[in-house]
Order: sequence, then C-alpha cells, then structure tokens
Amino acid sequence: MPDWIEYICHDCFRIRDKEHGLVIYTDPYKLNHDHEKADIILITHSHFDHCSPPDVRKIQKPDTVIVTTQDCADKIAGNIERVSPGLTMTVKGIKIKAVAAYNTNKKYHPKANNWCGYVFTVNGKNIYLAGDTDKIPEMSDLGEIDIALLPVSGTYVMTPEEAAQACNELIKPKLAIPMHYGVIIGDKGDAERFKELCECEVEILK
Ligand code: ZN
Ligand code: ZN
Repeated sequence: MPDWIEYICHDCFRIRDKEHGLVIYTDPYKLNHDHEKADIILITHSHFDHCSPPDVRKIQKPDTVIVTTQDCADKIAGNIERVSPGLTMTVKGIKIKAVAAYNTNKKYHPKANNWCGYVFTVNGKNIYLAGDTDKIPEMSDLGEIDIALLPVSGTYVMTPEEAAQACNELIKPKLAIPMHYGVIIGDKGDAERFKELCECEVEILK
C-alpha cells in the first residue's frame, strides 16, 4: 500500500505527489484533523457529501486548482477547471481525465448530469476515483489502472458484489481500495465483503 495515499472518510483522500511536491484532495468532506492546504482538489459531483464548500474553503489557498463539474463550480469560488466526462487536462504537471459516473439501476446519478469520476497519474501510478457510480461499460476503457478507489455502500452506488464484479471484469486494477461507506451509508462489513470477492489485491484503509 502506498504511504502517499491517506483516507480521510467517504470519498475523501489526501494524496501526495512526490515528483511535483503537490497535495491533492478528492471530494473534501468532514475534514477534522489538520487542514493541510491543497494544490489540487478533484470533486466528482454536487451532492453535499462530495461537494462541500465549507470543507473546500478549509484547504483552499490562492493558487489551489479545483477540477469539477459545472454544477459544483456554481457552488464554490476559486480557480476552477470545469469538466465533463471525456475531458483530459494537465494541472500543475498532473495528468487528469474526467470519466463517466452514473447509475444504471437507480436514479440518484443520471447519466445526463455529466457527473464525473477521474483517472489521474500520481507518482507514476494511474489512480481511478470512480465517484458515485454503478458498474458501467465505460469502466473497461479507463486504460491501465494501478489503484482503483471504488464505492461499495450500495443504495446510491454499487453494492460490494457489484463493485467486485466491476473490478474483476472491467477495471482490473493492481490494487483496489473501497470507499463511500462508514459515514452516511454502508459500513466496514461492505468493505470486507468487497475484499472477499475481488480477485486483485484490496486494501481497506482506516
Ligand atoms: Zn452522489
Ligand atoms: Zn455519494
């Protein structure tokens, strides 16, 4: 497990890029301990547990770049790069691609909203942050994924079984890390169930 990925909660990770000396956060939410500033913030969609303006402000500095969807951009201020699925950009030397994230068997995250997941490269590793999504065909077109951060709570996103299937059949990462449990919905049992069913290495972060 890379020591440069730190789990805060839900879909919020703090990731350190050693090559460029950057701190990257994903979906900042319930930041409780130190509020180390962010160089880049990736936000997947505008639901409150992913796009939290008060949490963004805690880690924002004048040159922080926020990569996010149009509807989130309307809620926050700063240096914002608006994206929709398919868009690729380089921010401060970090290659970032916005990818599709949507529901197929429930209606919380319609495909038409153009909400996102991200594939981005840190310390030479391709990381996939899935966002709130079901198992979708686009997951087989992500390219080589080293580390997949996947939601497993069910209800709004994939169940542990669906996430393991997506992992085994479509994403095929070297390492998978379950997320989106323990705060609003889902618990550690979902993460453990996901780990049992996955063919790749799985790390449950504390
Ligand atoms: Zn959501
Ligand atoms: Zn969510």
